[in-house]
Amino acid sequence: MERKLLEVDNLKKHYPVTAGLFARHVADVKAVDGVSFFITEGETLGLVGESGCGKSSLGRTLLRLEEPTSGQVFYKGRDITAWNKKQLKELRREAQMIFQDPQSSLDPKATIGDSIGEALLIHGVTSEKERLARVEALLQRVGLEPGHATRYPHELSGGQKQRIGIARALAVNPKLIVADEPVSALDVSVQAQILNLMLDLQGELSLAYLFIAHDLAVIGQVSSRIAVMYLGQIVELADRDGLFQRPLHPYTQALLSAVFLPDPHRKRQHIPLAGEVPSPIAPPSGCRFHTRCPRVMKVCRQETPIFQPIDKDHLVACHLYDGK
Ligand code: SF4
Repeated sequence: MERKLLEVDNLKKHYPVTAGLFARHVADVKAVDGVSFFITEGETLGLVGESGCGKSSLGRTLLRLEEPTSGQVFYKGRDITAWNKKQLKELRREAQMIFQDPQSSLDPKATIGDSIGEALLIHGVTSEKERLARVEALLQRVGLEPGHATRYPHELSGGQKQRIGIARALAVNPKLIVADEPVSALDVSVQAQILNLMLDLQGELSLAYLFIAHDLAVIGQVSSRIAVMYLGQIVELADRDGLFQRPLHPYTQALLSAVFLPDPHRKRQHIPLAGEVPSPIAPPSGCRFHTRCPRVMKVCRQETPIFQPIDKDHLVACHLYDGK
């Protein structure tokens, strides 16, 4: 039976907004506002939504890179939300993050070998000889040469830097990787190489991924299940085929209508998304999507839809499915 590796329960991350000379607390940016889901060992859960919907805040908060406002996160059944620094160090060995811009996490003055070696040192690999051997093995594992260890970040291409980002994450033998838009800054052909590398490593190392992206086509290539996020909340969650073949939420339907279909006999009607994403400081009443939804009803403006199962493993928050 598949075991739950990570379980998130009603997680919230609000950022205070202050004003005036005395930095008075006047409001909150509700970046993550009551999110629940789980990831099983070795699976990829895709998390998709427009930029600014709270995906990255969610990824950082569930790894305690940012402190949650409320809610709980269980890793292997243990609630990590109250863990102290020492316990968090233990978590960092198991759960790592890959960023969209690997450059930002690489010291421009340090060689690649030192950057990867630093992660090993933090986690107790103190012998220099052992560190070098591990660095070279990691470089080879992500498709680079051992000689890349002596290079500097500015000497590498975008795809090579992302491979370094993956090697750094792998240095501590993690079980979970939160990958935040790991290929969005790369050319399409390089994107495919990095996605294939991530899939190969998943097979070899039984890694679980939370794969965050704004592009549903990319998410669809790597994910076994997909969660759709809008304005701080998950509005639909299903296995990949269920979501692609039968999207239920009007927001998912709009996102999916923009995805290119390789089969020329299949056509999808494009559903344009009207208007801007509302402010997460004052989200709309009722259903947060009602200001942009082509199927909005009176009830949508007044009552918050419940996130409920419609089919096996297919959940949605939308009044169109009330009582179904
Ligand atoms: Fe649209 Fe109403 Fe469903 Fe929200 S609850 S997605 S506004 S139909």
